[in-house]
Amino acid sequence: MTELPSELSLSERLNEVTGRIADAAHAAGRDPAKLTTIVVTKFHPASLVRELYALGVRDFGENRHQEAREKALELADLELDWHFIGQLQTKKARQVREYARVIHSIDREALIAALAAGTPPIDCFLQVNLTDDPERGGAQPAEVPSLSEAIAAAEGLRLLGVMAVAPLGEEPRPAFARLRELRDTVARVVPGATSISAGMSHDFREAIAEGATHLRIGTAITGNRPVRV
Ligand SMILES: *Cc1c(COP(=O)(O)O)cnc(C)c1O
Repeated sequence: MTELPSELSLSERLNEVTGRIADAAHAAGRDPAKLTTIVVTKFHPASLVRELYALGVRDFGENRHQEAREKALELADLELDWHFIGQLQTKKARQVREYARVIHSIDREALIAALAAGTPPIDCFLQVNLTDDPERGGAQPAEVPSLSEAIAAAEGLRLLGVMAVAPLGEEPRPAFARLRELRDTVARVVPGATSISAGMSHDFREAIAEGATHLRIGTAITGNRPVRV
């Protein structure tokens, strides 16, 4: 999307992005009220989450377990829905369940096994790697049917759908079209798992056009992330 002027306030940025999301939904013949916008607050202090809460935001995304846990603890007085969106170490998986309402980054058997026994079940997405680089997070498309079955069999997990990050250096729309097909594959295995977690600051319009239901938007709303020292 077109960069927003840096002098805008947080509430102006939030309003502007919310408006652009609604425009993209209408252009795609979709109802904006059915989209969930998750504001990604990684690297930002808990105080920013508080400001966003005051502006009405309830869904927040974090990609590192330690940082997410600290923020969730510090903000325990607020009713927030935390979405864990980063690569997850198997041995940390069960701790994420303590604060997150949704895990977007389930991508392998070991992680499914680690979360299989918890109660109540936690909502999750199967993350798919849309690139040729096996180092990037996400399952290979060929693994999607078997991993969907494994999640369906895990009592501690409830599969909502698929998640992905658009590949760098490629038009996002065809990549999101592939993701939509993978969602169809998942939904054949797990009826009802029809959601798509996709769309970031620079590609949410294309993601919405391809059926995204859960947008993960950071900098367009928060401004640039502070540099981590
Ligand atoms: C950081 C991050 C985002 C948000 O990215 P922006 O470009 O700041 O909107 C979305 N998804 C994941 C997995 C991320 O790590």
